[in-house]
Amino acid sequence: MEKRKIDITKVRNVGIMAHIDAGKTTVSERLIFYCGKTHKVGEVHEGTAVMDWMDQERERGITITSAATTLPWRDHEVTLIDTPGHVDFTAEVERSLRVLDGAVALFCAVGGVQPQSEQVWKQSEKYGVPKIAFVNKMDRIGADFFKVLSKIQEILGANAVPIVVPIGTAEKFEGVIDLIKMKAVYYADDDRGRTFHEDDIPAAKMAKAQKWRSYLVEKCAEQDDVLLEKFLSTGDLTEIEILSIIRKATIARRVIPVYCGSAFKNKGIQRLLDGIVYFLPSPADLPPVNGLVEDSGEDKSAPQRAARDDEPFSAVVFKIASDKHAGKLAYIRIYSGVLKSGSTILNSTQKCLQRAGRLLRMHSNRQEGIDCAFAGDIVAVVGISEARTGDTLCDETKPILLEAIEFPAPVMSVSVKPQSKLEGEKLSAALHRLSDEDPTFLVKLDQETKETVISGMGELHLEVLVERLKREHGVVVAVGRPEVAFRETGTVVVEGQYKHVKQSGGRGQYGHVCLRLEPMDTGAGFEFVNEVRSGHIPAEYIPAVEKGVIKAMQKGAFAGFPVVDMRVVVFDGSYHEVDSNDFAFQEAGRACFCELFLKSQPELIEPVMSLEVITPEEFVGPISGSICQRRGRIDSMEMQGINRIIKGMAPLSEMFGYANVVRTVSQGRAGYTMHFERYETVPFALAEEIVKQRREKSKKN
Ligand code: GDP
Repeated sequence: MEKRKIDITKVRNVGIMAHIDAGKTTVSERLIFYCGKTHKVGEVHEGTAVMDWMDQERERGITITSAATTLPWRDHEVTLIDTPGHVDFTAEVERSLRVLDGAVALFCAVGGVQPQSEQVWKQSEKYGVPKIAFVNKMDRIGADFFKVLSKIQEILGANAVPIVVPIGTAEKFEGVIDLIKMKAVYYADDDRGRTFHEDDIPAAKMAKAQKWRSYLVEKCAEQDDVLLEKFLSTGDLTEIEILSIIRKATIARRVIPVYCGSAFKNKGIQRLLDGIVYFLPSPADLPPVNGLVEDSGEDKSAPQRAARDDEPFSAVVFKIASDKHAGKLAYIRIYSGVLKSGSTILNSTQKCLQRAGRLLRMHSNRQEGIDCAFAGDIVAVVGISEARTGDTLCDETKPILLEAIEFPAPVMSVSVKPQSKLEGEKLSAALHRLSDEDPTFLVKLDQETKETVISGMGELHLEVLVERLKREHGVVVAVGRPEVAFRETGTVVVEGQYKHVKQSGGRGQYGHVCLRLEPMDTGAGFEFVNEVRSGHIPAEYIPAVEKGVIKAMQKGAFAGFPVVDMRVVVFDGSYHEVDSNDFAFQEAGRACFCELFLKSQPELIEPVMSLEVITPEEFVGPISGSICQRRGRIDSMEMQGINRIIKGMAPLSEMFGYANVVRTVSQGRAGYTMHFERYETVPFALAEEIVKQRREKSKKN
């Protein structure tokens, strides 16, 4: 077997999660710089950012794609997975959270816990990601480390424990006090903080340092009975004891170690790197991954893969990207086993064999060709371009299907029209490439209007994609009116039957089904259950019944929007020896569903977004008004410094162009974020109106 260069316990796969503007790009670049991979620190305002390789990202100042960059630090290998800050790109966040083992949650020392930080924090909790926190921008006026610390504790409910505390704040921010070593750490100015030295804690800071050291030690003692006893008898713990218990508690998500510094002023970043290797887990620290149980086969226990090289190979594709030099790349996270370049692997999601071409390890400014990648590694593979995001790759002799990455269905669409026929082909190729890369971006041809329709997670998401069409693919399109993805669903249980019979001349048709429609919880999707007693409908026709039902649901039986969140049970029926066939049962299933659905007291549901607006006090009135006018509701209002944070919900259909509204009513001083929360019922009167319009439209076409 090939040998790995670095032990798996020294591998860290981490992401940085942050609110836009907290300094993620700047921090990432400092991490890269101090790990010695670039010679010049990239400054965001100079536009030389290493990680931000898309022009558009630079201009908008947001990071859209997730690239993976491997950095060496203290004989460890840290792979930094880029997570986007903007919540419109949920898919990117979800997929990066899925493949990273730990995260750095970044906060601004002035802004504190901002709405988006809270959102991403929740997402990371869902995936059970251990975290450390970094309070950045300690050099800014108004920076307050301890206030941010208490906000992390209060708002996020985290057991946040400082590992360092700042020496001074704002323009007096000089460095940090390391509470484990009880040393002051200062950073050199002339080499951008690359060198730093430890010194005695200044006398004026000693009392505070001791207070927080006690806090740290107490928090450690709480975690372990043996340590608690030692702490109670001696009043202190050793450096090794603290490091090991904090590591254990961080991985178990019982503690969040907190660091601070200023990326901009080059202070405190190396301590953060230490925190990553000391406290965040290696792939080997985490439980084995579970495979899904497939229906076929006798063995019903879920297969597992541990993060070891001697296990069968398994990996998940978490990103497809196009690269100028290498062409199409699949970024994969290897959960177990070894992948050799040139080997044949099974794509168990798509059930096909694929040949892995070259393997690349991505560094900030170069790609390194490697022959082999090991358990826990994150690498890019050339040559498996058919693979899609979320696919499982595995050893063909030891197949396994790992849990797919969960992506929300798009909630909004617009039609796009090319300027000429010739452009049409270019457009379709470009759109398909973009949708390969982004699973929440779908492309469809509207059968009725013959228009190309693109769907995504929000206005900004689609705007960015249209922009990318232009820049990366040279296709300019006219964009139609945005449409919201309304859905239909039933609200009461109904049952009934339908007979599809034609017996006039020649061979007849006979299909007879009894169905029961049951509403399910929002987001539950569709379930088809067969409860037919043996013989009433031959088993071979059941799939045809399901096919008919699905056809009806896709088309919509009430207002022409797809039907969701229903369980459909076929519980009886009958057949005819000669006249029954697939088609007849499909028709029976379809028609039966349509009839019954109308009796299930159907209603329209619509995507509702959660909304957070940050505004100076004086604009609270007009902003609240603008939310209420849009059928929105306000759930809470909090103070944050001189600003108010208004949290609420509003239907997506009312929120188009809201960016302009916020800008106008607040003279450009308020900002907001919005993300898809859930589907909710459309008020009756409005639903009637929508249904009417929809019927008129379909009559016209
Ligand atoms: P991102 O949106 O989270 O990637 O944030 P950026 O790294 O692009 O930083 C946003 C802005 O904050 C830029 O103007 C940075 O120069 C600035 N910034 C980043 N880190 C610091 C810091 O530590 N102190 C100060 N004062 N500004 C910072």
